[in-house]
Amino acid sequence: MNKRAKLKIKSIDPIIRQKICCGCGACTVICPTSCINLIYGQKYNFPQVDSDRCSSCGKCLKVCPSAFLLYGADPGSADEPQEPGDCYLVHCADERVRLDAASGGFITGLILHLMDKGAVDGAIVARCEGETPLIAESFIARNRDAVLSSCGSKYVPVSNCTALREVLQRPGRYIFIGTPCMIEGLTKLQNFMPALKERIVLSVGFVCSGMASRISTKNYIENDGKVSIRDVRRIAYRGDGWPGRFRVFGKNGSLLMDRPYIGGSLVHVVSRDHYLRCENCLDHWAHFSDIVVSDPWTAQMMKNETIGRSAVMVRTRRGKESIESGIRQGGLIADPITAEEMFSFNRHLVIDSRHPRHSWMAIYQLIFFRRMRYLLPLFKYLAVKRTITGLRTTLNAFFDKKYYL
Ligand SMILES: Cc1cc2nc3c(=O)[nH]c(=O)nc-3n(C[C@H](O)[C@H](O)[C@H](O)COP(=O)(O)OP(=O)(O)OC[C@H]3O[C@@H](n4cnc5c(N)ncnc54)[C@H](O)[C@@H]3O)c2cc1C
Ligand code: SF4
Ligand code: SF4
Ligand code: SF4
Repeated sequence: MNKRAKLKIKSIDPIIRQKICCGCGACTVICPTSCINLIYGQKYNFPQVDSDRCSSCGKCLKVCPSAFLLYGADPGSADEPQEPGDCYLVHCADERVRLDAASGGFITGLILHLMDKGAVDGAIVARCEGETPLIAESFIARNRDAVLSSCGSKYVPVSNCTALREVLQRPGRYIFIGTPCMIEGLTKLQNFMPALKERIVLSVGFVCSGMASRISTKNYIENDGKVSIRDVRRIAYRGDGWPGRFRVFGKNGSLLMDRPYIGGSLVHVVSRDHYLRCENCLDHWAHFSDIVVSDPWTAQMMKNETIGRSAVMVRTRRGKESIESGIRQGGLIADPITAEEMFSFNRHLVIDSRHPRHSWMAIYQLIFFRRMRYLLPLFKYLAVKRTITGLRTTLNAFFDKKYYL
């Protein structure tokens, strides 16, 4: 087999060709010949393999959170139901952080608490500032100012696993923040790299609906012709209370644009143009993390809450210990909630075996791989479960003169 043919099977090359990469960056960390470069494209982050230097060792594919789609995920297969851990509504005691954060500043508050007590030396986070604010910088925040500069959600492609290369070079204890797919990439890397297992002492994931392309943000900023992306030095996707505002800052911190999150950037940026991988995602709830965090989306919260609270679910013992110590020391203020309440904030992202997501996955498998065995499940999900039932119910109701009787 020639080198190129081997490459097709063993490296992440087919992941990129079949457009299922989510840009997590895990493959760049494990490659023994350093032949994978992460490209920051107009829309997405994605890796590129230098085939001349690739030894076809296959390691990159083993840590890739998207590889399951290459092998043909079974339609209808769902996340393993997990015993949910303790759940809370939390906010950071520091009101400035709480106001600036995405939800209630739980993540930023937890990082600051763990750094203050010497439990971690730094946090792997992301920020959108500098000359190219559309390219989120994944970095290790090692002091309070750096942590504060990373506060808030970034709704552009982010590749936090790339910062793990520095973790391998500089021993210490770190907390990793990321989307569920990044945390899966991290967990797979830890299986091969014991140093990462030792040094990443905690992982915090988000409930994640999808990662939008860079173009969505650029278009939103430039659409009314008043602001040019060249003048932008910082993008705050959330903050200024809850649910917050989308704000764009220029040189010297001048405010160039200020729009609401709800009815504004949520529609035009956050929900637009996700990676194709997000439409094929089975883990929106960060099953591999120690702690998972979301917004507390309910009509009541939307009516009454203006400063912000984070909805938090503990998944592991070390996750539980870190939250409890933050609460004891006064950095985090928490009220317990039930797991049922926690799930209710983002129920549409719980992918059970009947979720319509499986029809999209089947369509993907048919179009991209021509896997005919997905035809039947596709009918099952599209036609039987949704279209035919829906059509029958509608027609019955239309012709039934005694519908309410
Ligand atoms: C892409 C994306 C999609 C999301 N989708 C949903 C959803 O559908 N429903 C829901 O309830 N919640 C969703 N969230 C989570 C929510 O927006 C908040 O991030 C979460 O509630 C944490 O809030 P916080 O105030 O505790 O975090 P903060 O204290 O504001 O801290 C956020 C931390 O996350 C890091 N970070 C921000 N963006 C990224 C990123 N893209 N990748 C890696 N690290 C990042 C920051 O550097 C910071 O350290 C999503 C988050 C992201 C990033
Ligand atoms: S050398 Fe190994 S890890 Fe690097 S790209 Fe090739 S197959 Fe992947
Ligand atoms: S490991 Fe991550 S960045 Fe690399 S190919 Fe897979 S999804 Fe893309
Ligand atoms: S939806 Fe899934 S694949 Fe997309 S960014 Fe979130 S965790 Fe990753």
